[in-house]
Amino acid sequence: MELNNYSTLREFIIAHNKKQSELFCSGENKAHRILYRAEHPTELLALKCMDGRLNLPLCTETPPGIIQPIRNLGGKFNLGWPYLNDILFEWTNYAVSKGRRGIMLVTYHYSQSNPHFGCAGFGYDTEAAKAHTSDLVKTLNGVTGNGIVVPLQVGIETDEDSLIFHRNGAQVEVSKYGDVAKLIGDARMLFEDLPSFNDLIPLIEGNWHHVQEIRKNPRNTQELQHAESILCIGRGFDWLHLPNSAFIVGPYQFDMSEPVLKAGKLLLDNLKSGRVDQKKGILVMTSAPFRDPSGGFERNYKKEKSKELLAYAKDLIEKNIPELYGVCDFIAGVTNMNTREYEIL
Ligand SMILES: [Zn+2]
Repeated sequence: MELNNYSTLREFIIAHNKKQSELFCSGENKAHRILYRAEHPTELLALKCMDGRLNLPLCTETPPGIIQPIRNLGGKFNLGWPYLNDILFEWTNYAVSKGRRGIMLVTYHYSQSNPHFGCAGFGYDTEAAKAHTSDLVKTLNGVTGNGIVVPLQVGIETDEDSLIFHRNGAQVEVSKYGDVAKLIGDARMLFEDLPSFNDLIPLIEGNWHHVQEIRKNPRNTQELQHAESILCIGRGFDWLHLPNSAFIVGPYQFDMSEPVLKAGKLLLDNLKSGRVDQKKGILVMTSAPFRDPSGGFERNYKKEKSKELLAYAKDLIEKNIPELYGVCDFIAGVTNMNTREYEIL
């Protein structure tokens, strides 16, 4: 689904969502997801930066809908943020209630070729991002410290999309291995105290294969930089499944102006530098997810949430980045998590 085939981002996103929803609901993909869940019952969640270059399902070759994404500027999170606190508690409770273990991937990212292709959320300071995720792992361990739900610190090197797994002061870097069997052997030693390690193997293997594919056609300098033209605010965007196309900001911080405006400034920079199509401009879209198959009250409640999120973002951008506001199209919508269908309001 090439963006170039559409004259506006709105047309593209409508067509793309239709396609992704059909794929998600297709018998084959459904069967694949059910089988995957049966073979790998551990619940997976990823805390990560809003940066559009990060896509864990793509870079671990994991089917969509398996890794629950939680995204914010820099991958900065505070367990005290009320909504984040509720979401992580509900996720933990869900895993335990199903008799499953859980792994939280607490991620930071950087670029090996150029510090400025790293994380703008941390001012390109990878050590600061590492320190933050290390602290977050400690805090999460203190909360869930029963070994059933385990937070892991994971680095993402975005030139090759390769992962770095940290555990107890040691690390295993996927990019360093020419042999996948040796990689899994070393990872097994790194995670010898992790009961759900077997459910991590597909991600490690998938990432190794993905890195080998990237190396066949190494990304050029242009491809390594930000090229997003969409800002997604809210939750329920995992159907996007597009590399380097959208910033995704969850509604977690007390004050969301920081991530929204930071993303806005990066989008303006993408436009001005010509890394995105200036004729198409920028799309700002909000989503609130619902699960009730009948829609019902839940869908109606979520509509109000999404509309208000959009009004908030519109106001912020208009007041603080008027230059960007003039080239933005705005959409509010709700996402049916059973089908991943995005309904525009
Ligand atoms: Zn970042």
